[in-house]
This record gives sequence, C-alpha cells and structure tokens, in this order.
Amino acid sequence: MNLKKSLKPIKKKIQNKDKLYNTIRRVYTHLSELSNDEILDYYHVASLKELEQHIEHIKTVLKLQIENYEEELEQVDACFCLDSYGDFKYLYLQKKEAEEQIKFTLKTKRIKLALYPCPFHCGWHLTKI
Ligand SMILES: [Zn+2]
Repeated sequence: MNLKKSLKPIKKKIQNKDKLYNTIRRVYTHLSELSNDEILDYYHVASLKELEQHIEHIKTVLKLQIENYEEELEQVDACFCLDSYGDFKYLYLQKKEAEEQIKFTLKTKRIKLALYPCPFHCGWHLTKI
C-alpha cells in the first residue's frame, strides 16, 4: 500500500477544515485568538459540518441583505445569529440593556447568562453559562 498516496485525501480534508476556521479568524478580528473549538462554541454549533451550514446560511442572508439594502436599513435591530435550536437570537442594541437582562434573569429565573458581541457587530447577545 502506498501510504503517502492514501493519506493525501485526509490531508486535504484537514486543510479545508482549517481554511474555514482561518477565514472566520480573519474576517471577524474579535475571534482571531480563538481555537477551533472555541469558534464552534461561539457560533453555538457542535461540529464543523454545522458550522459550515451556519456560514452558508449567513452568506445567503448577507447576499439577500445587499440586494435589499434599503429595506434592510430599517431593520437594524436584527441580525442573523442562531441559537442552539436554530432560532434567531434576540439582539440587544445596547450593552446596558443586555446587562440589565442578565440581572433580571438571574433574579427571576435563577439562570446565569453572559453577554458576547454579535459577530455581525450588530449589538450583543446573551448565552447561558
Ligand atoms: Zn448577532
């Protein structure tokens, strides 16, 4: 068996895999220090496949967004981030607003939340700790 030859497709796959992570690190500078696993966490996806699907979804939406730019301007309080159930995440335009929600949820539901910046730079999202 030619080991070198048989390893080739695997090597190529790994390169493609890193390519997506590297693209994300380059495009979203606030993610540039994150490891591959941390990037998966950030997008609330469990695997590279889900990450690819999420990115494809973002690309499709962004393409539509440019086509409907005028309409989109009136909907600045929305972004395209999905939660772990595939629903759109609630966007907080003000950091203060998100912080108040964290306090409120902890007080009323005893659930600890943390805020993080929206990858589209639209505002802030909350996530369970
Ligand atoms: Zn977002």
